[in-house]
Amino acid sequence: MKAVRFFGHKDVRVVNDLEIPQPQGDEVLLKIGGAGVCHSDLHVIDDGVVSGAVFTLGHENAGWVEAVGPAVKDYKKGEAVLVYGPWGCGHCKPCQQSKENYCDHQSEQAFGGGLGLNGGMAEYMLVPSSRLLVPIFDLDPVIAAPLTDAALTPYAAIKRSLNKLMPDEYVVVIGIGGLGHVALQILREMSGATIIACDITADRLAFAKSLGAAHVVNSKDADAATQINKITGIKKAKVVLDFVGASPTIELGTKIVGLDGDLTIIGLGGGLFQYNMMGLPFGVNMSNPYWGSRTELMEVVGLARQKKIHIEIEKFKLDQALEVYDKLRQGKIKGRAVLVP
Ligand code: NAD
Ligand code: ZN
Ligand code: ZN
Repeated sequence: MKAVRFFGHKDVRVVNDLEIPQPQGDEVLLKIGGAGVCHSDLHVIDDGVVSGAVFTLGHENAGWVEAVGPAVKDYKKGEAVLVYGPWGCGHCKPCQQSKENYCDHQSEQAFGGGLGLNGGMAEYMLVPSSRLLVPIFDLDPVIAAPLTDAALTPYAAIKRSLNKLMPDEYVVVIGIGGLGHVALQILREMSGATIIACDITADRLAFAKSLGAAHVVNSKDADAATQINKITGIKKAKVVLDFVGASPTIELGTKIVGLDGDLTIIGLGGGLFQYNMMGLPFGVNMSNPYWGSRTELMEVVGLARQKKIHIEIEKFKLDQALEVYDKLRQGKIKGRAVLVP
């Protein structure tokens, strides 16, 4: 079968000679409907986040059950499912609570399919356990694939702060890409707070307005923090969600977050932050959440089935993977690119 393979630093190739695996035990073989192209893949390919393994890329996957191992009782051929992405040990306390994104053994194992183990940028994908599947019922796997990360990650980050996102408060979203454009919709649907969006192009800022941002600010403006603080007034932003995580956006976050607020850095842009007592308002929770839990992915499916969130997707073929990664590097993908075998 065809697959997009990671061979090492900056070495990605589309191959045509992989064997279709056969499911054993509790494994499930999926016919892939779509695999989302996440910016984290660029951190893997360009920045060496995962090394020493050769594997099929793609950690945002959806498809139809093709075959199941003899121990699988709950899934039948043809059922449409998402693949929950962060694969934990399945047994520790966080895994038992469905929070495999925070598995006790994360430091000892690969992050999951497409992140050290074989992922879904292929015609078929072997999922190591049926517990990692989430049914999507009437949703189309091609459109639903990015729910597993581009929607789940902002959903889990926003849920942590929901009790602070009251109608008299402000929330700032930095980076309106694959994750950020879904974050705006989740905030619009689940919180009462006024939304301010930041990106670096007029096109992305207009996109943000169409998705529920009341105000937009170009974060490349030297006075971006002043512009935002003028909107929020003395109380400043209660919650800042940074989907870039580069030094300039982290610094921006520290200047616009208010007392007792949340500064949540989701982007893996490698930014540095040097703490000093007067450089951050008192009471701020600074955090770096990773992905979301399996039950939160079920909740995200609920949001999508109610049509409260919509992922703006652009479809490509597996053969176009390298071209798509280039477009993503250049900021030319609006919403999410999805590879469709
Ligand atoms: P993307 O490429 O689709 O979007 C990034 C957006 O940020 C683009 O719109 C770009 O114009 C904008 N941007 C770049 N520099 C900016 C700046 N200085 N100020 C404001 N906006 C800026 O990326 P994505 O797939 O949405 O991923 C975003 C980040 O989140 C990546 O670093 C990715 O690795 C990370 N990520 C983290 C998790 C997690 O669990 N923590 C999960 C998925 C992705
Ligand atoms: Zn991702
Ligand atoms: Zn575990």
